[in-house]
Amino acid sequence: HQPYRDEMGEIVGVMVIVQDVTETVLARKKIEESEKKFQAAITAVEGIIWTNNSIGEMAGEQPGWAKLTGQQFEEYQGYGWTTAVYPDDVQPTVDAWNVAVKNKTTFEFEHRVKTKQGEWRLFSIKAVPAFDEFHSIQQWVGVHTDITEQRHAAQKNKESEERFRSLADQSPIIVYIVEPDELATMSYFNKTWLNYTGRNFDEAIGRAWDDIVHPDDLQNVFDIYVPAFQARQSYTLPAVRLKRYDGEFRWHMFKGNPRHLSNGEFNGFIGVGIDIHEQKLAEEKLAYRTALLEAHNHASVDGILLVDVKGKIISYNQRFVEIWNIPQQITDANDDAVLSYAATQLLSPEQFMGTVNYRYEYPKESIFDELIFKDGRIIERSGYSVTGEDGTFYAWSWTFRDITKQKNYENTIIESEQRFRTLAQTLPQLVWMTDENGAYEYASNQWMDYSGLDPNEADTWGKLVHPLDMESLMQVWANSLQTGKTYHAEARLKNKAGAYRWHLVQGEPIKNDKGSIIKWIGAFTDIENLKEEQKQKDDFLSMASHELKTPVTTIKAYGQIIERILEEKGDVQTLGMVKKMSKQVGRLTTLIADLLDITKMQKGGLIRNETVFNLDDLVRDIMDDMQKTVGTHQIINNLNTDISISGDKDKLGQVLNNLISNATKYSPGADKIIVNTKMVEDGVQLCVQDFGIGISTELQRRVFEQFYRVTGDNQSTFQGMGIGLYICAEIIKREGGKIWVESVAGEGSVFYVWLPVGDK
Ligand code: ATP
Ligand code: MG
Repeated sequence: HQPYRDEMGEIVGVMVIVQDVTETVLARKKIEESEKKFQAAITAVEGIIWTNNSIGEMAGEQPGWAKLTGQQFEEYQGYGWTTAVYPDDVQPTVDAWNVAVKNKTTFEFEHRVKTKQGEWRLFSIKAVPAFDEFHSIQQWVGVHTDITEQRHAAQKNKESEERFRSLADQSPIIVYIVEPDELATMSYFNKTWLNYTGRNFDEAIGRAWDDIVHPDDLQNVFDIYVPAFQARQSYTLPAVRLKRYDGEFRWHMFKGNPRHLSNGEFNGFIGVGIDIHEQKLAEEKLAYRTALLEAHNHASVDGILLVDVKGKIISYNQRFVEIWNIPQQITDANDDAVLSYAATQLLSPEQFMGTVNYRYEYPKESIFDELIFKDGRIIERSGYSVTGEDGTFYAWSWTFRDITKQKNYENTIIESEQRFRTLAQTLPQLVWMTDENGAYEYASNQWMDYSGLDPNEADTWGKLVHPLDMESLMQVWANSLQTGKTYHAEARLKNKAGAYRWHLVQGEPIKNDKGSIIKWIGAFTDIENLKEEQKQKDDFLSMASHELKTPVTTIKAYGQIIERILEEKGDVQTLGMVKKMSKQVGRLTTLIADLLDITKMQKGGLIRNETVFNLDDLVRDIMDDMQKTVGTHQIINNLNTDISISGDKDKLGQVLNNLISNATKYSPGADKIIVNTKMVEDGVQLCVQDFGIGISTELQRRVFEQFYRVTGDNQSTFQGMGIGLYICAEIIKREGGKIWVESVAGEGSVFYVWLPVGDK
């Protein structure tokens, strides 16, 4: 509105000018608004806001700066503010600022500022230029933000992280970090882990460890680890096999704990792994050993007791309790109770306690002794110290073994050995004992007196036995070795004067429980005189039978003549008597013939009269003949050969005769005799069986000897000279056959004859 005046200057009207100022007003309002916003921002921003003029000097009032530093306008204006900046930071700040002003770019920097409280604090500074429409800088707006705490925290964080890593890297155990993400990514591994797996950090990072856990342990790991991870709780994997760089799986124990940020937020896991391989193996070994020990303890036939250094019982087995008859309540009570209870059972408790005390004095010495119980048992006690490899002394082990039986055996053995020696020394025979090879182990005094040899010297047999007898002796020996039977032989043995005397050599094998010969016990019996007598007897017999033959034959002839005369006269009574006499003369003739046969056989002068005949026929004839004179027994035949053989028919008939007459003679209570023939191998076998008195096994061998008769109470009742079987044997030998007997005393005998068929 403009007053409008006339020439006189009098207001005559008002001139109204209307101008559209909408834009201006709006612009101003905007500016005011923006200013307000700016102010609000300033207060809102947690920092100090300042403005500089276009050339970078503080021109206007800076309430924020003043408040921070306590500086007055006069102090900070222009470049005065730099006096509040840490001296070392001033030049770099100014330099950087000049660059920004020159280039009109954003200024970013950090420096330390002294607060009005006199404290240096670190600030980050950011300043932006404000331009006008001509792109000239109008002013700079900057912010100082206090980052002291933040920087400290970061620094601390970094330091602690570094400390953790260097610690973790030095640690011999595995350390790893698991991120809280869903995949549980592994983000850190210490050196031990990397060295163990043979991976470098980049290879390991982010990788799960499924591929290095032993397949058999994987399920176990998941079962523990996954729920723990989800529940964010600590976990322990007690035993997991983890693959080493060289492919070896080693046992590890893993433990993990959840990590939390300072604000309590879950931040994954930190985990450790410890190599427990040796420990685990040691544990397994220990368990195995313990099991072994237990088993051994239980299986042992010995009582076992383990006692510690102080005498306290560590363990004992069942056998220990059995040997000592210790009631449970005593073993439960205490060690002293066990000791005194044990002592009551012994004949000599002093000895027992003495050893126990010795044990304490000399802990590492081994002890053996024998304890004699009142009930007669003998227990062998041994004590050993139980020491570790390094010599550490842990305990004493006592074992108790019942050796009563063994001791008794030992005593019996000693006794019987003594008996044997006494007997050997008393006998007139030369008694000896050799090992299985004939090397002397013992020889009686008589042996040494006779031979003048030392039984320990080499080749005693060779020095003793006549060279001519050695071979046959060796044959008998070899035969005995094979059959394991007693050997008998005759040999000349040289005495110390150098003269030979005939001896009977007998040896009895001693066998072990496996049946092998381990020793020979034998005796030499001097039969020189016997031999001499035998010879004299033979000579006498040969002479006597020869001298008797002629007169007896003459008597027999006269007898026959007398018989004929009496028959003619009809003197029946006298004839009967003469017939009886003739019969006896007949027996006498056979006897003399037998004796002559013997002497001839011995001198090799008996003529063999070989013909071919049917064996069964011969047997039948003889049986029929004999049955006529034998009224007591029925002679049954069982003939199966029907074969012609060639041999001395008369002599074989004599054999059969002898066998059947023996069979009848030595079976007075029986009523039958069985004669049997059959083909066996390349020959015929004849046997005569009776059911009489029989012959004991040890005498069976001898009945074929000349003049041998079984002597016994009832034997004297049987008549005979003991030459029947001898003659049989000699005849069969001449025929190339065999004769032997099988018999059981009291049940009967079977005499066998085997003769070869065909060429002889
Ligand atoms: P002889 O010279 O008269 O034959 P002997 O019969 O006594 O007399 P042997 O025929 O050589 O003599 O028999 C020897 C011994 O064998 C007999 O004394 C008898 O003890 C025993 N003996 C023989 N045959 C039998 C038999 N069948 N049963 C039991 N013992 C027998
Ligand atoms: Mg006879």
